[in-house]
Amino acid sequence: MNGSWHHGAAAVVTLTFDVDAETPILAQGRKYARHASTMSHQAYGPDVGLPRILDLLDELGVPATFFVPGWVAEHRPGLAKSIADRGHEVAHHSYSHRPPTSMTPEEERADFERALEVFAAQGIEIAGHRAALWEASWHTAGLVAEYGLLYDSSLMGDDRPYKVATDAGQVVELPVHWSLDDWEQYAFLPAPHVGAVIESPAKVLELWRAELDGMRHYRCLFNLCVHPFLSGRPGRAMALRRFVEYALECGDVRFAQCRDVAADAKADPALPVRRPQAPPADPAVYPH
Ligand SMILES: [Zn+2]
Repeated sequence: MNGSWHHGAAAVVTLTFDVDAETPILAQGRKYARHASTMSHQAYGPDVGLPRILDLLDELGVPATFFVPGWVAEHRPGLAKSIADRGHEVAHHSYSHRPPTSMTPEEERADFERALEVFAAQGIEIAGHRAALWEASWHTAGLVAEYGLLYDSSLMGDDRPYKVATDAGQVVELPVHWSLDDWEQYAFLPAPHVGAVIESPAKVLELWRAELDGMRHYRCLFNLCVHPFLSGRPGRAMALRRFVEYALECGDVRFAQCRDVAADAKADPALPVRRPQAPPADPAVYPH
């Protein structure tokens, strides 16, 4: 198993936390900055959820990766460093949290660069990127390669790491999936429409445990995506704790930061190289 991305483990777990704070709401409309209740719902993430999660990770002794929008790092200057100082990875999650699919290539590049500038000014080393809302464009992986990052974590083309070939070189993809995102379980706001569910944490724990068992059978990457403003709430934080405890009890699961899995994946010749491209969409066949 030497040289393999999984180090012989049945499954690899990357615990990832998207510290979005106010950005996904502001990306839906600047006018929401006037909504005190909505903004407080989002500020709960960095103010209450994040410290609770950092303490939980310390207690359980597991590593994690925190994807932080540049806007959040800039407006809360000590936040990224406070995560890195606890031994966790900080990664690039756009500047504004506007999804790349909503921007021109020039706008996407400017947003991407602006986040890198914020992290560079704060002395935070960045190895990977995740597109806002997992809405990568066909340019996104190329930007990740061009700016010298090791990995992206926005696509869904596999359940194990794979390599994405771009004109600017190869990057490792650490694929995601909606079933391992707490947004689909817990996101509720009357407006803007970003979700309308408040599931039981017991159901979410059952879902994640079932998926981990499947992934242990097929030797996959369990890339969990958690938002502090959602899973930082008490019952949900307890479900997250019980999930990590279950994975540790399995005895065959490896926990690692995304940058470490990506470095291992880059060196693993057994992983496939893909060049994702837009499928042909003939207007005569698909008129809308
Ligand atoms: Zn996000």
